[in-house]
Amino acid sequence: MRRNAAELAKMRRAGKVVAEIHEATRAVLRPGVTTADIDRAARSVLETRGAGSNFLGYHGFPAVVCTSPNAMIVHGIPSEAVVLEEGDIISVDCGAIVEGYHGDAAYTAGIGQVSVEAARLMEVTEASLHAGIELLRPGHRLHEVGRAVQQVAEAAGFSVVREYVGHAIGTAMHEEPQVPNYWPGTPGPTLKSGMVFAVEPMVNAGGPGTVLLDDGWSVVTADGRLSAHFEHTIAVTDDGPEVFTLP
Ligand code: MG
Ligand code: MG
Repeated sequence: MRRNAAELAKMRRAGKVVAEIHEATRAVLRPGVTTADIDRAARSVLETRGAGSNFLGYHGFPAVVCTSPNAMIVHGIPSEAVVLEEGDIISVDCGAIVEGYHGDAAYTAGIGQVSVEAARLMEVTEASLHAGIELLRPGHRLHEVGRAVQQVAEAAGFSVVREYVGHAIGTAMHEEPQVPNYWPGTPGPTLKSGMVFAVEPMVNAGGPGTVLLDDGWSVVTADGRLSAHFEHTIAVTDDGPEVFTLP
């Protein structure tokens, strides 16, 4: 779907709120912080900005952010019982609704000093996101994005998750079409200005396999190795990709 200028303006504002949540949650990251503390920092931004949460209540999800440490890939539930320690990595995924329009973005950060592998995994995952974003231009085909993400991740010796993917976004958080982080075998739709997508590589240090935990939400790597996740909401414009979820 193509969004008009008024719709894109609302999505730009939603994206700014998401970027602000990223800044506010990054600011609380230190050894001893709980993932519930991260959720509280995010709630405070939503409240200040008068924005809605597209995470809270989504299929019953109980928080405004997903917090996924270490081998958890995505969809971790914030908890007072999950205390982050020096050397952990934590993925924080969140969104905001402004005047009915959605933003969605995620980052992964280290707690204090992290391992060389963890640092490289985060760096490569973010680089794979930017390689995908570069291709969000009118006339390109959507699945070139996933091919680029996959190339960057696999060139570094890592793997991309198959079961969870990016998506178009607008008046709902998850709209069609999906945006896989791999080459799905077909080039997909031709991109036009006004289309908006959430591109979100989930990159595993080991194999691509995933396991859903008994809480029905938390997705972890099958081999127990680290996973990182970065995401932005991006509009296709005649002037190139416009990332809405940057500060
Ligand atoms: Mg997200
Ligand atoms: Mg998303």
